[in-house]
Amino acid sequence: MWTQHHDLHSHSLHSDGDHVVDEVAQLMFDEGVLVWSLTDHDTTSGWEEGAKAAARRGMRFVPGVEITCEPALAAQEAQLRANGLERPSASWHLLAYFPDHQPGLNEEDVAGFKAWLAPKQDGRLPRMKAMCERLSSLGMPVDIEDVCRRASGSVGRPHLAEAMVELGYVATKREAFETWIGDGLPGFVQHEKPTVQEAVAAVKSAGGMTSLAHPRYYGVPTKTLASALVELGVDSIEAVHRSHNDAYRHELMTEAIAQGLSITVGSDFHGLARQPRPGNMPIQHQGLDERLAVNGDHQQPKPPRTEE
Ligand SMILES: [Zn+2]
Ligand SMILES: [Zn+2]
Repeated sequence: MWTQHHDLHSHSLHSDGDHVVDEVAQLMFDEGVLVWSLTDHDTTSGWEEGAKAAARRGMRFVPGVEITCEPALAAQEAQLRANGLERPSASWHLLAYFPDHQPGLNEEDVAGFKAWLAPKQDGRLPRMKAMCERLSSLGMPVDIEDVCRRASGSVGRPHLAEAMVELGYVATKREAFETWIGDGLPGFVQHEKPTVQEAVAAVKSAGGMTSLAHPRYYGVPTKTLASALVELGVDSIEAVHRSHNDAYRHELMTEAIAQGLSITVGSDFHGLARQPRPGNMPIQHQGLDERLAVNGDHQQPKPPRTEE
């Protein structure tokens, strides 16, 4: 049995997405999504809006966040080539889900996690400052204030790329990434990241679960990757991501299930200018984490306490 009612990976203006939370909810709803997770980078600031927007449309909302972590394993050349990449991403992205948490209601359950996460988000600012300084020294001064104005939650490289386009240093955001600010390039500065183990511990202590986002970008053979995730206590793997072709999805699903991991599904929606639509990602019921089911019997979406 297959389902395409889930989209567990999406971004809003709270990080590097193009739409306000309510618009993301509407786009998901229009595509028939019944279980939706907002997973902005290193921030939970969109959760209450997301929960309300989903409740208004009768969707189940799963509070989520995409945590930027240190890579747990080094990339392998052959696997990178097989995945069509020149270099691995400088970080691993760990999706954290809190299926039992109802934003604005049982806040005490996630208070420890939020306190752990907050400096990660704040850490983005010094890193962005350092990148602006780096670009200045390369003859492309960028005002940090101008970059920050473009972000309503977590500031990130897409905001910097946008500023570089407007300043005429590059023709497109893509060129900014490919020439200057992509991982390992002259304008790139690493930021301090937790290890996967640290992130898993913080999420678990708040009753959450984790899934490794878009494994394609890390250049690690699937079997090795899945056993490492089991070791690290990660629950799930995002087998179905828009960047994966069918063969790779199948390989990930099979290996995950063989090693006792569940699977998750996400379009990694950032905005209509970049992707025509969210959702529409078929996944087998069999491997999907049961805590993320349409009618998880442990939780039905409840309407928010306050009416708008
Ligand atoms: Zn990611
Ligand atoms: Zn993402």
